[in-house]
Amino acid sequence: MKYVLDFDDTLYDAKRFKQQVAADGTAHLLFTPEIWQLYDVQDYLHTDTVDWLASKQQEDLFILTAAMTSDGKVVMAYQQEKLRCSKLGAVVFEIIFSAGEKGVETAEIASRFPPSEPIIFIDDKIEQCLSVKATVPQAHCFLMVRDPSVIGEAETVRSIDVVHSLADVDAKIREL
Ligand SMILES: [Mg+2]
Repeated sequence: MKYVLDFDDTLYDAKRFKQQVAADGTAHLLFTPEIWQLYDVQDYLHTDTVDWLASKQQEDLFILTAAMTSDGKVVMAYQQEKLRCSKLGAVVFEIIFSAGEKGVETAEIASRFPPSEPIIFIDDKIEQCLSVKATVPQAHCFLMVRDPSVIGEAETVRSIDVVHSLADVDAKIREL
């Protein structure tokens, strides 16, 4: 089983970080690599991230992160420095930076393994889940919704299973 994991708002709490930046008046440094001299990325990982990654085999873990702002600006240097400072490179097999739809890179990852190898994709963006579903139809995609109040009781969004934590992913995989 191979896991392809989004970073922002899946493993890392981007919303909490941006709130802190706004409170500190450092928003002018947002999306520059220099901002990581002021903040420790590890302080903003979701609380289950490190232990969950440690519960898996390193060779099964891929982080696939989009180096783009929500309005579509590519911020590669910022994102690369963020991931470097997260130190998660030491516990995953590979970190891949995307500047578009993740279906392309996920298909490339899946192509490295036999078709029988289960591929698990987790992302907080429904568009990315649908992109992966289109290119890797056998992948199990999970929409990560860290804040359950956002979508209420919905268990799926556009046929993609919703999870609220990494433990939820393990529980749903056991049901497959
Ligand atoms: Mg994300």
